[in-house]
Amino acid sequence: MDHLEEIRLRINIEDLVGGYVQLKKAGRNLRGLCPFHGEKTPSFMVSPEKGIAYCFGCHQGGDIFKFTQLVENVSFVEAVHILAEKANVPVPQKMPALNNKRLKVIEINKWTVQFYEEIMETNQGRKGYFKDRGLTDETIKLFKLGFAPDSYDQLKDFLLKKGFEKKELIESAVASQRSIADQNIFDRFRNRVIFPIFDHQDNPVGFSGRIMGEGEPKYMNSPETPAYNKSGVLYGLNWSKKSIKEKDQAIFMEGYMDVIAAYQAGTENVVATCGTALTPQQLKLISRYTKNITFAFDRDAAGMEATFRAIELAQLAELNIKIIKIQGGKDPDEAIQKNLEEWKKSVENPITIMDFYFEYTFSQFDKDSIEGKKKIMDFVLPLIKLYKTDVERGFYLNKLALELKTDVNFLWNDLKNARETKTYQGREPEITSAPKKRIFSKEEYLLGFILDNPEMYEEVSKNLIDNIALNSDTEKFYNLLKKVYTLGSSLDMSHFKEELSEEDREKIEIYSMLIEESYPDFSEGAAAKEVKNLIRGINQNNVKNAQKDFEIKIRTSEDLQEKKVLLSRYNELLKLSTKI
Ligand SMILES: [Zn+2]
Repeated sequence: MDHLEEIRLRINIEDLVGGYVQLKKAGRNLRGLCPFHGEKTPSFMVSPEKGIAYCFGCHQGGDIFKFTQLVENVSFVEAVHILAEKANVPVPQKMPALNNKRLKVIEINKWTVQFYEEIMETNQGRKGYFKDRGLTDETIKLFKLGFAPDSYDQLKDFLLKKGFEKKELIESAVASQRSIADQNIFDRFRNRVIFPIFDHQDNPVGFSGRIMGEGEPKYMNSPETPAYNKSGVLYGLNWSKKSIKEKDQAIFMEGYMDVIAAYQAGTENVVATCGTALTPQQLKLISRYTKNITFAFDRDAAGMEATFRAIELAQLAELNIKIIKIQGGKDPDEAIQKNLEEWKKSVENPITIMDFYFEYTFSQFDKDSIEGKKKIMDFVLPLIKLYKTDVERGFYLNKLALELKTDVNFLWNDLKNARETKTYQGREPEITSAPKKRIFSKEEYLLGFILDNPEMYEEVSKNLIDNIALNSDTEKFYNLLKKVYTLGSSLDMSHFKEELSEEDREKIEIYSMLIEESYPDFSEGAAAKEVKNLIRGINQNNVKNAQKDFEIKIRTSEDLQEKKVLLSRYNELLKLSTKI
């Protein structure tokens, strides 16, 4: 059997998609929030019968291979490899190999993770560091924490003995060289506790090492490598994605220790941006699992700044945002150590963005002085103005009036004059998530009906005027339907589908899903009526277009004989147009 077919047989589209998107039953199909664009009402449909997942908002989707390509942002070959592994099927031999450099780096990193873990269990290791910070043996093992010995060549010798080459160790960045010309290489991480960084598919892609004792830098991170694209990785996601999907919420933190401590404390739906500011790619990655995100950044000025930026990006990606107020510590790790109950309470009661902004300005400016009141209003009024309804605006204006000890009617007036901003900090959007609009044509709808109810084709064949030009996108489908129908006594759908290319077959299936999506619970009678309407609409449109064509031809024709023929055909068309 064809390898691809075998993979297709073993992996259901609904199970595959269900790993990324919360799906709910919707008639014969399943429905969920699209993993490819930001949205708040679901337009992403999965058809178990057809083996297709498709978004009617941004019009992206396809079978298990196409879906994997899109959602994992990989090539077709990589998608086949991923699914073959999932299905426990050997990868087709004809398939070209994967990006070898990336795989080599991951292989070296796997050995390196193991090496650092083993060192930590020896006298050289500094497991005490993690123990002192409250981590259990189980947690240390789960996160594969380790130790890089205070040596220039222990790791490098270990890896060279395993058969890797010097230049491969440089490429994976576990070793360094003083200059390009220098043949000697040495271990990059020395005398540091090690946090291996995994991508969401559980591949070790890099490392972060914290120095023991004094020394610079305090944290050292792997540079980018063929396996490590920093802006696309979220630390912790390989462990937390299950919990994120279950709770339908992800908590973003700054540090590795924050994630680990929170996870151990039972808050498992956590990730960290790896020593970089939050990026649009990271938000795109998380939005495959949830559209609800909560920020729990450090309480210092830098953490504030990070929160502002993160809110702005997340709003542009149309995600729902909340903020966790960290109490009794400078970061989640410290807050958990100091008071676990308090931490759990803050996690369960995150505040809104507007409350976060209120607290920020009230801590920055003096509410009681006129100067302070003005500064606070300058900051928050443009933000309140971003809300679309007076109910929301009024809610926050009342709150503000109470804090500033002023009459809310004055504030309504000031709101009118407040600065207009597009985003929370008045900057231009950096990413857009607006779906590409595509409106389906009447011809496409009609095709969908025919596919679901082949017996309706008789009506179509009788009434659809097809001796004039049809919509060019769908003409080939109508011609083929006619051919198949004329050959047999009725319309044999399997025969029709056999004649189509794979790409066209998928198009056709999407038209049929379109009907299920647009007309749920349609009775047969209602469907027949809608088909009549569609045929009439298509005919009217086509006749009108044909008339226009004739008018131009007649006007520009200089041959009298030709003009006469055109005119008589034009009159026939006119007669036809009065009948429909
Ligand atoms: Zn979409």
